[in-house]
Amino acid sequence: MNITQHIERGCHLFPDKPALIFEGTTFTYAELDRLANRVANGLRELGVHRSDRIALFLPNIPEFIISYLGILKLGAIAVSLNAMLKSSEVKFILDDCGAKAVVTTADLVKNIPQQDLPQLKHVLIAEGTATEGTSLAELMANASPSARGIEMDRYAPAAIVYTSGTTGFPKGATLSHGNLISNSYSQQHCCGMQAEDRILLYLPLFHCFGQNAVLNAGLNACATLVLHRNFDLTKILKSVTDEQITMFFGVPSVFLVLLNMDLPKDQLKSVRFFFSGAAPLPTEVAQKWYDKYGLVVHQGYGLTETSPCASYNHDYIYKPGSVGTAIENVEMKIVNNGKEVEPGEIGEIAIRGPNVMLGYWNRPFETAEAIKNGWFYSGDIGRMDEDGFFYIVDRSKDMINVAGFKVYPTEVENVIYEHPAVAEVAVYGVPDLEKSEIVKANIILKPDCNVTEKQMIAFCAERMAAYKMPKTIKFVDSIPKNPTGKVLKRVLRDEAANEAALK
Ligand code: AMP
Repeated sequence: MNITQHIERGCHLFPDKPALIFEGTTFTYAELDRLANRVANGLRELGVHRSDRIALFLPNIPEFIISYLGILKLGAIAVSLNAMLKSSEVKFILDDCGAKAVVTTADLVKNIPQQDLPQLKHVLIAEGTATEGTSLAELMANASPSARGIEMDRYAPAAIVYTSGTTGFPKGATLSHGNLISNSYSQQHCCGMQAEDRILLYLPLFHCFGQNAVLNAGLNACATLVLHRNFDLTKILKSVTDEQITMFFGVPSVFLVLLNMDLPKDQLKSVRFFFSGAAPLPTEVAQKWYDKYGLVVHQGYGLTETSPCASYNHDYIYKPGSVGTAIENVEMKIVNNGKEVEPGEIGEIAIRGPNVMLGYWNRPFETAEAIKNGWFYSGDIGRMDEDGFFYIVDRSKDMINVAGFKVYPTEVENVIYEHPAVAEVAVYGVPDLEKSEIVKANIILKPDCNVTEKQMIAFCAERMAAYKMPKTIKFVDSIPKNPTGKVLKRVLRDEAANEAALK
């Protein structure tokens, strides 16, 4: 079945129930369905067919959800892009997936270099007025509000979610209808989502966490989603009270910020369930949260490639510091030197199940590297205890986790190398209490070149999304390497930690 056919069930069961609330506007399940049908029919009239890639370059607004559902109903593939991406980053992704159309806003359309994207036939403007593109509202107004999601094979691609990669370019994790259905149901089941729930959704919809684990799961459960454009703390806290939120999903930095605010204890009293994912939740944060609110922050672990949830720490068998046990129908194991190891031993986490992606879009080599005999190799280092609980210890992949946003150093290094004064650069992550990690760069300048840290940061700001940018830059004379020339990032991280300790 098509993932949207599951959601259509909610439209039949609860047509008048609020499905989505956004900035004071409520969409019932029946309305959401009709709007998604209009998008599906409008796109069909534009010549969009099954399996065409349609990109969503949008902030968290209802049109993201409406277009996403419409694309999936049509059997086309929804490709979501981070709204923070700059022009060259957007071009890479639209080119890579061969997007036929993009849904965007008047503010963001300037970051789509249409002249360099010959396969891009349609630009649809979902918010604001732009001189270029077609209005999404007009397209929808002229299209029929009735349709059904077409039958799809469970292995048919439904969504492509881009994740950056160790090789320096983003790769499109291709998720099938079966992937989305299985994982959204697992998430719904693990978290106990029900039709009565009111779910806060400020997590970015371009990311699998917001898109499948909250949006699809919430709509499958026939719950009410309260959507926020972004993480605006004042608005979010007001919304928790005004909308009587019962389920709160976040990343560790959000829980830390809320703890540090020292809110009155009953500020979040309507919430019965808290969930943290995408980055390690420090045990002391989880403990302080429990001490204050008397509720556990449930931790889940997963990756875009696993749709995303792979493991979950249930509260009836909760173990502090653990990312829990593998979710239903999913297997997890720890592998070292190609062999599964005994409980307690450390190795790479491998995952197998209906949530494992089809592969990376058009990248058979990278797919074969990542998935072997149905097992997806996560690049995360961990251990499993005797009871099957997993603990993340480290990671083997060269990745920086900035408050849940993943940054791959090679991508940032490639951009910095474009600067004419740069002889050599090494980008790495340093621990940060609030954001998990922040990005730092050590740069060797060419002889007689003079660039300040401010100038270099401004250079990066024009070319990459803000979360990827180095927060500090250190100009150095040498970069430590091993005998084969590999940069010793561990040494750089230790040096940075020592410098921070001396401050
Ligand atoms: P993404 O593809 O953006 O979802 O990032 C996946 C990566 O996030 C994983 O490979 C982990 O390194 C990290 N991650 C996700 N959940 C957790 C967690 N609960 N604890 C530690 N790291 C996590």
